Amino acid sequence: TQLDTLDIIVLSVILLATAAYFTKGKLWGVTKDPYANSFANTNGLKAGKTRNIIEKIEEAGKNCIIFYGSQTGTAEDYASRLAKEGKSRFGLETMVADLEDYDYDNLDQLPEDKVIFFVLATYGEGEPTDNAVDFYEFITGEDVSFSESADPPLGTLKYVTFGLGNNTYEHYNSMVRNVDKALTKLGAHRIGDAGEGDDGAGTMEEDFLAWKEPMWAALAKKMGLEEREAQYEPIFGIVEREGLTKDSPEVYVGEPNKMHLEGSARGPFNAHNPYIAPIVESKEIFNVKDRNCLHMEVDISGSNLSYQTGDHIAIWPTNAGQEVDYFLDILGLTEKRDTVISVKALEPTAKVPFPTPTTFDAIARYHMEICAPISRQFVATLAAFAPDESSKAEMTKLGQDKDYFHEKVSKYHYNLAGLLRTVGGGQKWNNVPFSAFIEGLTKLQPRYYSISSSSLVQPKKISITAVVESQLIPGRADPFQGVATNYLLALKQKQNGEPDPKPFGLTYEICGPRNKYDGIHVPVHVRHSNFKLPSDPSKPIIMIGPGTGVAPFRGFVQERAKQAEDGENVGKTILFFGCRKRSEDFMYESEWEERKKVLGDAFEMPTAFSREGPKKVYVQHLLKERSKEINELLEKKAYVYVCGDAANMAREVNTVLAQIISEQRGIPEAKAEEIVKNMRASNQYQEDVW
Ligand code: FAD
Repeated sequence: TQLDTLDIIVLSVILLATAAYFTKGKLWGVTKDPYANSFANTNGLKAGKTRNIIEKIEEAGKNCIIFYGSQTGTAEDYASRLAKEGKSRFGLETMVADLEDYDYDNLDQLPEDKVIFFVLATYGEGEPTDNAVDFYEFITGEDVSFSESADPPLGTLKYVTFGLGNNTYEHYNSMVRNVDKALTKLGAHRIGDAGEGDDGAGTMEEDFLAWKEPMWAALAKKMGLEEREAQYEPIFGIVEREGLTKDSPEVYVGEPNKMHLEGSARGPFNAHNPYIAPIVESKEIFNVKDRNCLHMEVDISGSNLSYQTGDHIAIWPTNAGQEVDYFLDILGLTEKRDTVISVKALEPTAKVPFPTPTTFDAIARYHMEICAPISRQFVATLAAFAPDESSKAEMTKLGQDKDYFHEKVSKYHYNLAGLLRTVGGGQKWNNVPFSAFIEGLTKLQPRYYSISSSSLVQPKKISITAVVESQLIPGRADPFQGVATNYLLALKQKQNGEPDPKPFGLTYEICGPRNKYDGIHVPVHVRHSNFKLPSDPSKPIIMIGPGTGVAPFRGFVQERAKQAEDGENVGKTILFFGCRKRSEDFMYESEWEERKKVLGDAFEMPTAFSREGPKKVYVQHLLKERSKEINELLEKKAYVYVCGDAANMAREVNTVLAQIISEQRGIPEAKAEEIVKNMRASNQYQEDVW
């Protein structure tokens, strides 16, 4: 007999349910977030977490939800800090929540004695961060609807907002502004000012600190909260695991998740699960002594990763050995570096930010930003655990006085170990509960790079172009060195069998946890971007990419040359490039000549060298010089691409383009600016800036 569709469905359901029963749900594990799985073991959280936020807070006894939309970890970090402060100063029962983990259509049912915080970063061109996309679309959507359909739908909701943005971008803090507007429109009541932090002005931390005091006061008034003497309460419990050593198979010594620990890493590879990619080639493309520019080729053929020209690749760095040593030393943990510990969240809604059991060494090396700038608030927290009274007084002062903090700490780019060493005169800070560091430091973030190859030419090999971050700082003996780029430099040196030629060369655990990265591998994932060539290659393009901003344009030009070789009609391709001197930092000089041979007159590359002539010349000046031609190309609907420095260059290019349009077309500047705005809105003007 034949089975009809319904029978088949019923049978499949029974079969799957049976399979699930006998495999204890393991079959489902394949599609679940591997990160969540690895946390599940350490946190005691059950698999199959609820997406119902109301249910969650009721179960956990919370009255304050702090949602975050975070791309690089700062918003998440601020959310945790607010949660901690709300609890310790005002006795709020706080929980931090990833926007991605919940549904929102029942926000109208939030009981009136609760409050929600939204800590929201704006990413790129005014976009929400990856984890906030669904929320953003929901809350700002035309047809947003809630389960109870009251009028107004969120009339009883109280909320607090803080946005993280960068004023050098066109859409400054647009994420938080739009969410705030949408919530107000839905009838919700904001408490305190809508805070905004500005990374562009470098005042994010201070903006945050200045915003939160009046916000707390307003919230305390509204909710009838009493402030109390803040007591430090650890969020994480650390348990030493005596039966285990760093060689025990279940101990994480830097593996990012359980699949990596068990040697069964598989896709999807993403921000929670990197692919350990072989580096097939690495070299330097500058000829200057103390400045290094790396070109690397990473092979993704062994993975199911793919990319498109214009995408970003994320590099998962490890901290330099010397920094790990300093960190462990100043905390008095050198002897214990390989001691195996488990970290347990002491409250149900906190997440341990790395898999455990693990070691102090692995946490410092692979999981925490031990080199990053320190927050003043964290300094104030640490004061209570200072090794002596004078260090305590100094930490308290640093925590309270922003100018003093700048003078003593920020100016020298000190990281945590550097600060503690300076303040305590080298005494060990071994009274600080380790939980405080897990709470006070951000988790180590992957760094993004604009892919500098074309996926049409090399679909399985991604190239990176990166300048190594190293700065001499007056008053400081050793240079300040960036985390990821110096790690990449070390990988390059190892791959090419070079002895370390740099006076301040840092050493790294190049071979990775359990030598899993040996043979020169680097953990990566790919992030898709909207920075894309026109689908019709005959469209003219204007690219502006000085310095490392040229990275994606190497890919763009590679792609256009390939299209020309394949017989396609390729439109005008102009690349404005700038650097210091032709003889020093003109990147990929010979490659451009090769492309020129293929593309002929269609390809042009005006160059500005800022340190060659008597006057500094930048790409903006070159654009201006070619006003007539640029305007003609724009009239032919040329696409404009800008990549590199967000703070100055990108903004100036925007201004210059408006000036060109205004002059050439004889229209008022305001009108020309409007045209540029519309070009952006229709993707005819695209930016990839950082
Ligand atoms: P980090 O250690 O992250 O330091 C970076 C900066 O932070 C320092 O210069 C300093 O200003 C500050 N800082 C860090 N620690 C401290 C401290 N303790 N005190 C004070 N200040 C501190 N870069 C490229 O070279 N090529 C590219 O193609 C490229 N593409 C990018 C694309 C995107 C979308 C983005 C977001 C960035 C891109 N970048 C690119 C930049 C890149 O991601 C990194 O930021 C850069 O390489 C520096 O990384 P790092 O880990 O070496 O430095």
